[in-house]
Amino acid sequence: MKKGKKLYEGKAKILYATNDKNLVIQYFKDDATAFNNQKKTTIEGKGVLNNRISEHILSNLSQIGIKNHLVKRLNMREQIIKLVEIIPIEFIVRNVATGSITKRLGIEDGTVLKEPLIEYCLKDDKLGDPLVAEEHIIAFDWASKKEIDKVKKIILRINDFMIGMFRGVGIKLIDFKLEFGRIKINSKNEIILADEISPDTCRLWDSVTDKKLDKDRFRKDLGDLIPAYTEVAKRLGILHEQSNVSAVNVTKLSSIRRKK
Ligand code: UDP
Repeated sequence: MKKGKKLYEGKAKILYATNDKNLVIQYFKDDATAFNNQKKTTIEGKGVLNNRISEHILSNLSQIGIKNHLVKRLNMREQIIKLVEIIPIEFIVRNVATGSITKRLGIEDGTVLKEPLIEYCLKDDKLGDPLVAEEHIIAFDWASKKEIDKVKKIILRINDFMIGMFRGVGIKLIDFKLEFGRIKINSKNEIILADEISPDTCRLWDSVTDKKLDKDRFRKDLGDLIPAYTEVAKRLGILHEQSNVSAVNVTKLSSIRRKK
């Protein structure tokens, strides 16, 4: 597979063309941003961990029949993915109220929701990814009613699976963000899961201590982001006990053999 020109650079990832028009290479950067790009830094090793964790979760989802864009991980920082037309909506899934919803609605932090709550945000950095209603999505043709209904069903399956997967390793899945894309498979229009699922896009709390093992460590200046992401990877069985990712030994990860 030949790596071609840069197609797009986002806050945490870069997409490159390949010699197959249907496939692109997704490169995970070490850049961390928060609060709509107002807070920025580089955290060495973050991209490596997110590449591994996202690969693990997406391939597990694939095994339970949830179609997604991942084809295969190429190396420490890159994976081959199917090119999709991204639906311009961030689908936020909440099991416990924290973050923006607590401020917006005055809900107490840590409130366990009776059932999962799905929120929609328009993907538009200039507007600060505003919260929108399902009616807005339909009115402005960002997606059809049929597409939203399909996505909602997939989201609930993903949430159930991920709650169980994380619970099994002593982690509470508080909330997360998903993106979906349109693709033609055997001349049929389909919607598949895209982007990444990692501690950058999920809130993950230790089941016993409520310690934050996600990007809130950066957002809230809690420090130790790499040890927290490494902890998630180790608990998921992606990294061996002795491997530790830090700014100085991130290169060691290159020697960790792929599972499959
Ligand atoms: N999230 C994300 N990208 C975004 C916005 C949110 O991955 O652009 C994730 C975030 O990591 C959290 C969930 O979506 O797991 C809900 O985020 P919230 O709306 O509370 O965001 P906040 O404004 O508090 O960062």
